Amino acid sequence: MTQPVTDNCLRCNEPLYHEFQLHFLWQFKRDLFKVLCNSCQKILENTKLDRDKYTIQCQLCHHLLDDSAEADLLTKVYDYQNLKICHDCQFWLKIYSLDTLRNEVIFAYEPIIRETIHAFKSNGDILKGYLFKHSLQKIHRSNRQYQWIVLPSSAESLQSRQFHATGLLLDIAEIPYICPFDYIGDGKKQALKNREERLLMSQPFQVNQENIKEDKLLIFDDIYTTGTTLLYAKKALTESFPNKKIKSVTLARGI
Ligand SMILES: [Zn+2]
Ligand SMILES: [Zn+2]
Repeated sequence: MTQPVTDNCLRCNEPLYHEFQLHFLWQFKRDLFKVLCNSCQKILENTKLDRDKYTIQCQLCHHLLDDSAEADLLTKVYDYQNLKICHDCQFWLKIYSLDTLRNEVIFAYEPIIRETIHAFKSNGDILKGYLFKHSLQKIHRSNRQYQWIVLPSSAESLQSRQFHATGLLLDIAEIPYICPFDYIGDGKKQALKNREERLLMSQPFQVNQENIKEDKLLIFDDIYTTGTTLLYAKKALTESFPNKKIKSVTLARGI
């Protein structure tokens, strides 16, 4: 998708100053123009989970943890073998393998990320999707050998939103993907379910393809909350394609 040239920062609306640089000419692309002002860009960059300030993370799903005495059930650090893990991963280890639980996460669930995803998904402000373009392209460069996969939306979500949220984020980042599932869930929005309902939901996905060319599959999703949805998708793929390597990447790990 061609990036729109915006004159104002997509986050704070301050005017943007596009400096046309000579190397743009070689790239034949307008989309090197920025969509955030320098200070908003800095806030976004500082939200990446690889920053030093995010010292304690679950070593499987990258949930931010708290090793102080005040930590609550969900942010407390649990020990498993040599790993520091979160409450949810500890729960899932009763069902899934360590490898299945591993999930790469790009951003911490800070206000800028929460607000951007909300504006994009719930308010249909699709320009906000361009905030994630370069971060997604960077992850894609190191995972080019993987077939990228998105999860299906329920018919109800597609109907109300009019677009497929994660598919559109990848379209914006020009990352090819497939959706090899049929949605067979109850259609109730994940965001409207409470923790218990999420943990107890039944398999919402059915694989609808007999063959996928690549040997490595990468499921991309926007927010990992309890992990239920993503883990069901991994389970369905593993059952259909037991010999393929399957991994997952999410934009953020929710709370
Ligand atoms: Zn700004
Ligand atoms: Zn975890």
